[in-house]
Order: sequence, then C-alpha cells, then structure tokens
Amino acid sequence: MKYQGLLKKMVTENAETISYYLETNSHWLNLNQLVNKTFAITFEGYECLSCHKEKKIFRQGHCYECFYEQPAVADWVMKPELSKAHLGIQDRDLAYEEKVQLQPHIVYLALSSNVKVGVTRKTQVPTRWIDQGANKALVFLEVPNRYLAGVAEVALKEFVSDKTSWQKMLKNDIAEQDLIAVKEQLKAHLPEEVKEFYIADNHVWELNYPVENYPIKVASLNLEKENFYQGTLKGVKGQYLIFEDGKVFNVRSFEGYKVNLEIA
Ligand SMILES: [Zn+2]
Repeated sequence: MKYQGLLKKMVTENAETISYYLETNSHWLNLNQLVNKTFAITFEGYECLSCHKEKKIFRQGHCYECFYEQPAVADWVMKPELSKAHLGIQDRDLAYEEKVQLQPHIVYLALSSNVKVGVTRKTQVPTRWIDQGANKALVFLEVPNRYLAGVAEVALKEFVSDKTSWQKMLKNDIAEQDLIAVKEQLKAHLPEEVKEFYIADNHVWELNYPVENYPIKVASLNLEKENFYQGTLKGVKGQYLIFEDGKVFNVRSFEGYKVNLEIA
C-alpha cells in the first residue's frame, strides 16, 4: 500500500501494550499492525506545520520565521523556568501562554535509560512519558503552573539528569534504578516554594512498547541526507520507528517533512 503524508508526532494510546498511530493524507496507520512489514520511506519536501508554506523546516516542525514567532515553540516550552504568564508578563502571546502555563503541571521521575526528571502538563500524562520511551514513571509533584514546575526541575537537575540517552532507550539498555528510592532521596532537595506540592502516592507507571526485537546497535535515519530508506519494522518506542537492521527513525525530529510511504 502507498501513502502520502506530512509527518507529525505519532499519536499514542496507553494499554497493556501501547498503540501507535501515524497520520497520512488518507488513513491513520496503526503501526502495531505493521510490525514485520517492509517500509519504504521517501522524502518529498517540506511543509511548515504553522504557516503551511513549503519552506525548509528549521526546528520542531516549523520554518525559521515561524520558529521565532509562534508561541507554541517559545523558549519557556523547553525551559519551563522561563515561564512568565503567572506574572502577567507576555513572551509572544499572553493569551496562549496563560492557557498553557497556568494549568496543573506534573514534575516526574522517569526511567528511560537512567533516571531522569521532567515536567509536563497534567493532561499529557502518560503521553509525555510514552513520547520519551520511558519504561517506568513516577509522579513527584503536582504544581499549579509551569513556572513552579520549572523551579523544581532546575533544582532536581543538580542530582539527576533531565536527558535520556536515545541509544540506550532504543536498545532497551535500562539502568536498574528504583524510582521510589530516588524520589525519597530527592525530596530533601526540593526548593521551599514547591514543597507543599509533593505527591506522596508512589504509584509507578509501567509502559510497554510494541517492540518485537530490540537492536544491539542503533543508527538514526536522517531523511534529509538519505532521501530514501527501506527496511522491516520491528517495533515502535518513544517517537521512534525501529527497523530490523538497527536503523531508527525519530518521527518527531522530522515533523513538517512530506513523505511517501510504501508498506508491503
Ligand atoms: Zn512557517
């Protein structure tokens, strides 16, 4: 079957095994059903997810101009501590920033390669963890806005990473670390202004990905350089397609790229 599409991050549904869906112009593909099929991916061009012009993608699915103008890709998205809507201060679009920043946020610990700390809107649980390929996750704080989540994250980053090793995540090379024990240790390092938002419940989320075989070595597919790739899908984890030959394709890194897919 042949499909055309503009790549966007895959949509997921948490269940005993996570389901993955990729949107194309004509169909939503359930990737779980396509494990062991052959994929041929051809790069066809760009389309900015914001202005929809066929301009080269600069970052996060946006062309250069949109990346520096659109409120959805401002600095506070990646650096929550820069959030200012709680002070009524505008960065790019105050109405947008109030809507996104002034809502409950979760500070969490996740095990995706080593233990990492992260921040997400409460509505993005467990989607955010799935997108990162976490095998386990544990809620640490629930705060009323993005700024406070950032304050907590900055403090906790002194002790645990805020990054995932994508290679280890994709090889399922996961450190044996106890999230609850790490949470108990880190509790003492919470800044004063967020201590009241500590969540005592230690429910550990476990996430299971549709991966038949994890690769021993991984190499990422760069559609811009290679233009064409063909391989057998062995699974999906995080926002990556994993192929039999160890090639991995980070769908999220190629948002805004138009592709042809041929699946057999
Ligand atoms: Zn644009």
